[in-house]
Amino acid sequence: MTPVKGGYAVDVPMVNVSERARQDQTTVWTTLKGFGVTLRHLFKSLFRGDIPTIHYPEQTRQHSERFRGTHILTVRDDGSLKCVACYMCATICPAECIYIEAAQHPNPEIEKFPKRFDIDMMRCIYCGFCVDACPEEAIIMSREHHQAAYGRAETIYNIEKLMARPGIDAKGPGYRPNRPLAEAQIYDKEKHKECAYPSVVEERHPAVLYESMIRKRQ
Ligand code: SF4
Ligand code: SF4
Repeated sequence: MTPVKGGYAVDVPMVNVSERARQDQTTVWTTLKGFGVTLRHLFKSLFRGDIPTIHYPEQTRQHSERFRGTHILTVRDDGSLKCVACYMCATICPAECIYIEAAQHPNPEIEKFPKRFDIDMMRCIYCGFCVDACPEEAIIMSREHHQAAYGRAETIYNIEKLMARPGIDAKGPGYRPNRPLAEAQIYDKEKHKECAYPSVVEERHPAVLYESMIRKRQ
């Protein structure tokens, strides 16, 4: 059955590849059939220009309107984090990949702010629950998904990387339930010369997240 519009596949027949492979005998005929498939695609690419591969990274695929990429922590007008360290996103997160440490906010009207807010991107499943759970519009997702890294530690995004990594607004916000942003905004280094309440910046290690999860389960 054809997948419905919007990218959701419903009632798609399942093909058990290993079962089919067991039934197929390797013969000269099956080998020729395999070559036939290869040649068919070769000629389609050559003469019809029907090439399924793209020249990445120069070319990128168009994603659905509901695409959810790497997170963004939004800010207030003064450039300070919108997050009030309520832990709702960390509580709802099914992958347990958000780690927050709260601190008292200098402004008595705002109770708390996160002195530490890490997301372990290697554990995140991009479900968007954190965005839906946030009462402050403080965390949204972007349309960006490039996360190449040289080491494991780089895949844990801290406040600075979540808030003001280079190119954060190149593709704009990703799927979110209430758009456009009503009270929050994306950090703009031209407008917000410096963050009013900077977070604690220190070397992080992936073990930090795992330790916190182990404590949570005990
Ligand atoms: S998108 Fe889902 S898995 Fe990723 S941090 Fe948010 S709640 Fe957790
Ligand atoms: S991002 Fe939102 S849900 Fe998560 S701690 Fe901050 S205010 Fe709470």
